[in-house]
Amino acid sequence: MATLNGADFVALFHAIAQMIEREKDHLSALDGVIGDGDHGVTMSIGFQAVDKALADEAPDRTPADICMLAAKTFLNAVGASVGPLYATALMRAGAAVKGKSDVGPEDVADMIAAMAAGIEHRGKAEPGQKTMVDAWHPAAEAALGAKAGGSLKDITAAAADAGRAGAEATASLVAGKGRSANLGDRAVGHIDPGAASAAMILDTIAQWASERAD
Ligand SMILES: [Mg+2]
Repeated sequence: MATLNGADFVALFHAIAQMIEREKDHLSALDGVIGDGDHGVTMSIGFQAVDKALADEAPDRTPADICMLAAKTFLNAVGASVGPLYATALMRAGAAVKGKSDVGPEDVADMIAAMAAGIEHRGKAEPGQKTMVDAWHPAAEAALGAKAGGSLKDITAAAADAGRAGAEATASLVAGKGRSANLGDRAVGHIDPGAASAAMILDTIAQWASERAD
């Protein structure tokens, strides 16, 4: 069974930071249609700060330590809405594997579920409101569904597929939260940028897992 240590999680955050840099303009363009156009820049500021903070970390840090430092760094770098949401998600992910020096596939499923629960709790949002929850919630259900006996690759691929489908489905929704809620029907036809970036993060997790898993 594949296991992952703190250094693997540093590599994951690096991969996410690089992906966000590639997608930054695209994410801000999505946000420009139904929001204030800053989502790509905001996510970039947060994950660049995380990547930088983790690069200096001691190699013996546990996955939980890495997630906790990422949470704190993201929150310090990004004050606005998405900051507390991902900070809470990462804190919950760390808490789910506290004390473990290595984590396995089932732990990763629990971490994804913990992230989704944290975002829903902190954002007081539920599926169907055209937010990042529409990607994270089905991804968590898929990860937990694949958890029993599933490989790391299977679990993370299931989460990524469900997250992508959930993000795409936000196009048909009227927003129930945030700035885009003011647009009413005019937001219909456009994907929520927070759900889009969530799906991209889940996809990056699946790619990272497939490069490490047996
Ligand atoms: Mg925005």
